[in-house]
Amino acid sequence: MKKLAVCLTLSLAALVPFGQDSKAAANFTDVGTTHRAQAEIYYLVEGGITSGVSETRFAPEQQVTRGQAAAMLGRTLNLNGEQRPTNFKDVGKNNFASGYIQQLVDKKIISGYTDGSFKPDKTLSRGEMALFIGRTFDYNTSSVSAAASSLMKKGIASGVADGTFGEAQTIKRGDFAVFLSRSINADFRTADNEKFDRNLYVDTKDGSKLNLRTGPNTSYPSIGSIPTGKIVSYAYFVGDWAYITSDNVKGFVHTAYLQSDKPSDKPDPTPPVTPPVKPDPTPPGKKPLSDISVIIDAGHGGSDPGSSGNGYIEKNITLNVAKKMEKYYDKVPMKAIMTRTTDTYISPAARGAYASKGKGDIFVSIHTNSFTDASANGTETYYYTRSAAVNPNVSQSKALAKYVQNRQLEAWGLTDRGVKIKNLAVLRENTVPAVLAELGFISNKKDTGIMGTEAGREKMAKGLFLATLDYYYYYENRKDVLPLYSTVNATPSGKLH
Ligand SMILES: [Zn+2]
Repeated sequence: MKKLAVCLTLSLAALVPFGQDSKAAANFTDVGTTHRAQAEIYYLVEGGITSGVSETRFAPEQQVTRGQAAAMLGRTLNLNGEQRPTNFKDVGKNNFASGYIQQLVDKKIISGYTDGSFKPDKTLSRGEMALFIGRTFDYNTSSVSAAASSLMKKGIASGVADGTFGEAQTIKRGDFAVFLSRSINADFRTADNEKFDRNLYVDTKDGSKLNLRTGPNTSYPSIGSIPTGKIVSYAYFVGDWAYITSDNVKGFVHTAYLQSDKPSDKPDPTPPVTPPVKPDPTPPGKKPLSDISVIIDAGHGGSDPGSSGNGYIEKNITLNVAKKMEKYYDKVPMKAIMTRTTDTYISPAARGAYASKGKGDIFVSIHTNSFTDASANGTETYYYTRSAAVNPNVSQSKALAKYVQNRQLEAWGLTDRGVKIKNLAVLRENTVPAVLAELGFISNKKDTGIMGTEAGREKMAKGLFLATLDYYYYYENRKDVLPLYSTVNATPSGKLH
């Protein structure tokens, strides 16, 4: 939804290095060419992930604090570091890391103490480091020893002199830089066991080439460019960036330009043709079904990508499902009107205006949900009720929302988050029964496991089509809709409103 576009904008803003001194080639007097962590420290500084304690000093032998570690992990994930109040009594808005601390807590990557404190100035222990890094990069963090073992197996950290991981020991800034650089970029690791064994297509939408960078943000230099349509193999994600290989060059690309399906250069194949059904007589006092249009609104588009996650971008998923949904109306007397059929930006008000402009009768907006906590999942449907002066179709919208929610659940079987009231321009500034479907969470792996497949999206498109039939059959009490279900071998849902 909307807030997600905002999230994306903020995360791009957060690419601007915190600190002052990362843009100019840093040159720390205490990190010379022979320093054990030289390459790793300058790698992180180059990406604005860390900075010196002054223009000329990095202080590699100083202990790293929990607050500093949070800031570095937050910048690694391109989180919005804007300072803000937090849940912790000892981390006020003015703490330099307050934004990162709160965002990482929301993502369950870091946590505070049971007394409500975070202790931002306490030195970080190796055990905490293993957990924080493990959660940032999605390793096994079921326990400190599991996290430590992940780090050792991957060649990110090794044990201490007594043969243990030394989880209670503290860490110096230089060593933390080493562990973090190795986690981000496998080229720094002491073991080479990452496999580039999963493929995605590059899709820049506008035919331009995709920059391959040395690190997971745009401060890192481009070391190559990949043409759209090319298949690349990835090993893992760092936030919204993927560590990939293309033509034997390893590097990072933004996941907004990767997708699991081949970018379409021709339209989706037409479903098998079945003869159009002969409509039943129009009930008295109603307009013929052939005069009814369903407005299909593919959320976001163009410069507004919506949310992204797990290799997917909302605007592409919504357009794909919308186009599939549109095809179902080819076989019935009812018509479909699309607010967009290409990757273009349309304002919410212009979307709402389609009802009057295109003489549509009901409005279904398609979106995917997202949340900072990747465990959030499921399907929900919105309508708007509190501004009858703008959109008077409250009971109609509510009924349509129930049928849409029901068919979405039937299609994908995700968690039922229910039908909700939400004040969204596209619903509020509308003149016909209007709903917004949040198919699932693009930030959740299980949900994207379904929404990322052609078969999944086809099922959803069919479900949304059926929901519009259900609405006319039950709410508008039109028996002449009944034969339309046979075009997809389906039956009415049962009365829900
Ligand atoms: Zn959206």
